Amino acid sequence: MTTKTSVKPEKHQFQAEVKQVLQLMINSLYSNKEIFLRELVSNASDALDKLRFAAISDDSLYAGDGDLRVEVEYDKEQRTVTIRDNGIGMNRDEVISNIGTIARSGTRQFLDSLSGDEKQDANLIGQFGVGFYSSFIVADKVTLSSRKAGDKPGKGIRWESDGSGEYTLETVKLAKHGTEIVLHLKEGEDEFLSDWQLRSIITRYSDHIGFPIRMSTEVKVDPEAEDSETKVEWNDINKASALWTLPKTEISVDEYKAFYSHISHATDEPLSWMHNRVEGNQSYTSLLYIPTNAPMDMMVSREERSGLKLYIKRVFIMDAAEQLLPHYLRFVCGVIDSDDLPLNVSREILQDSSMARKIRAGLVKRVLDTLEKMANNEPEKYQTFWDNFGQVLKEGMVEDMPNQQRIAKLLRFASSRNSDDKQVVSLSEYLERKVEDQDAIWFITADNQGSARHSPHLEVFKRDEIEVLLMSDRIDEWMMGYFRQFEDTQLKSVAKGELAGKDSADESEDTAAAEGIFKRIAEVLGDKVSAVKSSKRLTESAACLILDENEMAMHMQRLLEQAGQEIPSSKPVLEVNPEHALFSKMEAEQDEDRFVDFSNLLFEQAVLAEGGQLEDPAGFVQRMNKLLV
Ligand code: ADP
Ligand code: MG
Repeated sequence: MTTKTSVKPEKHQFQAEVKQVLQLMINSLYSNKEIFLRELVSNASDALDKLRFAAISDDSLYAGDGDLRVEVEYDKEQRTVTIRDNGIGMNRDEVISNIGTIARSGTRQFLDSLSGDEKQDANLIGQFGVGFYSSFIVADKVTLSSRKAGDKPGKGIRWESDGSGEYTLETVKLAKHGTEIVLHLKEGEDEFLSDWQLRSIITRYSDHIGFPIRMSTEVKVDPEAEDSETKVEWNDINKASALWTLPKTEISVDEYKAFYSHISHATDEPLSWMHNRVEGNQSYTSLLYIPTNAPMDMMVSREERSGLKLYIKRVFIMDAAEQLLPHYLRFVCGVIDSDDLPLNVSREILQDSSMARKIRAGLVKRVLDTLEKMANNEPEKYQTFWDNFGQVLKEGMVEDMPNQQRIAKLLRFASSRNSDDKQVVSLSEYLERKVEDQDAIWFITADNQGSARHSPHLEVFKRDEIEVLLMSDRIDEWMMGYFRQFEDTQLKSVAKGELAGKDSADESEDTAAAEGIFKRIAEVLGDKVSAVKSSKRLTESAACLILDENEMAMHMQRLLEQAGQEIPSSKPVLEVNPEHALFSKMEAEQDEDRFVDFSNLLFEQAVLAEGGQLEDPAGFVQRMNKLLV
């Protein structure tokens, strides 16, 4: 089929680390080695999708062969397995950048995630689609020949490597466009030289692929005759209808799972999926998955989201996660197949089309419905979801205000009522068990769970047996700035604003003498505080810092300051517990220097209890020692 045109293949080196990664991958995936076939068939299917899309505007690209398909063959004598497609193909530069450098492949992501301890890294690989290089699990030589659709026969390219650090490239003449990959099997991998074996792997992993996958068999020309001549016959071995186009009743759980691996490139199992057909002036089919595990880069990458494939009438168009799913649902992956969008739709059109907006709203509703059902009916499963994706979902509280109340129902928080941080509560449960006359949902935000749980701000709530939600995710303070009311109840921070109605009946008005002391403390502290007041929050601690309702929590202020951001300086109120022994001591203190030390200490311990840092730690230590001895 091919003739060489260049005299000698050129040699190229892999990047230095590649050899090491390949070895690691081969070892860690060996027990699951048949996945190479899934990966190569999946690439072939992608290439067919791409050709079909390109041919919408130029059907000469089919070159008269519009029968898109994948062919799988083996040769017992040569000990090879071949995977062939008549898809888009690759030119020389594309082979170098897609295959030669691993820069574009799933393997590359694995490479990027590598760090120190190899053993741990071997587990990591499960989180990535491993791609083309999985060929080397079973092959000691791989030959890839490809010609890009639309290119001349002489522009074919052949890539060959034994996976040990080098590859060769040569220009060859190829009669047809598309890609052919020949795996020269390693010693001991002969199990793949079997019709039955290859068929069963393809059925297991690739049945849902929307193009026919064919294998050849030799059949007698005359079935009756003993010594009949034989001919090659190709049979489809998969269903070859895109999975989402089938009725739900015809799809098995395993098929749904296999399709998830195909589109997500992940090796976890889906936690849940939603398969729906919407009819009307806007008809589409959606098949959406919620993964079990979060991908490595979920929290960091805000750009280039992928995972939601847009098809229009069965033709793959593009990845449209950015346009069809809000950012806070970026963990969802799947397929949308629209009947009504125009085939030549562009990203820009999609961005502002009302059809796309409708689909988007429909998908959001679908996902939230599913999560709500899971939360109600399968709390353990929901907990898994929450542990992995809760932080991302919280972004929706700000990003998707129209759905805020729905999302709020899905939130889970640690609580002062549970001693274990892992035991979480929903807002509805919180409301069910609130105490009589309680008029707010109380929460505290802090740097970490420990400082939230042990904050002096919680003392009076403990006394009155009022539950407080403990929040320490970075996003919490920001989220709570936009989340003021759940159903009919206000949400309030225990560390902000006046505490109305919290006084117990026997609490007397501050005496004039006490007022005098507060004034003196305020004078000592100067502009560190905006005021010094008697506290209604404290039962054990001597003092705490309080912010205004609309001010940003202290730990957030510190965080932003550390990040070099200018923030409006806000001064806290120092609240002092007049029942505390320290206060009585101050009332009795005659020595002005000692009073100054006491005042500073009062402020400093309130800062420390907050999880804050002292401006003058050495001074604090000196003051304390002076008063201790
Ligand atoms: P991924 O599929 O995740 O991108 P792979 O390692 O499987 O990673 O493939 C790397 C790239 O090589 C693909 O993105 C594609 O551009 C190209 N490629 C692989 N196989 C084929 C093929 N059969 N036809 C055309 N291009 C291919
Ligand atoms: Mg791939």
